[in-house]
This record gives sequence, C-alpha cells and structure tokens, in this order.
Amino acid sequence: MSQVKCRKCEQEYDDEMVICPHCDTPTNPNIPNYPHFKGPGIMVFFFVFFVLLLIGMAVSFFSQ
Ligand SMILES: [Zn+2]
Repeated sequence: MSQVKCRKCEQEYDDEMVICPHCDTPTNPNIPNYPHFKGPGIMVFFFVFFVLLLIGMAVSFFSQ
C-alpha cells in the first residue's frame, strides 16, 4: 500500500485506485476512465444513432 499524488488536484490517495477519488482523474494517463468520442468516433456514434432512429420509425410505420 502506497500513496500517490493526483496530478490534477494534488490530493494523495491509494495507488491501487484506478482513478482519483477526489476528481476522477485517471491515475495512469494512458488509461482513460471513460470512452472518448473524438474524431471519427463521434461520427460513428451519430451514424449508429441515426440508423437506429430510422429502424424505429420504420417499425412504428409498418406496425400500424
Ligand atoms: Zn484528483
């Protein structure tokens, strides 16, 4: 058990923690604590959302 210092808020916490319990900053900057939607990723996200919306509209149209 050892303590590490948060690189963002400078509070100390156990180094077995993946993220800082004070500000949720990842201990290892190479391991994000949540998925990022950057660059083409956000476009894929909106494309999937749009396709699901079309499917939902088609299902509601044909079920009438
Ligand atoms: Zn912190």
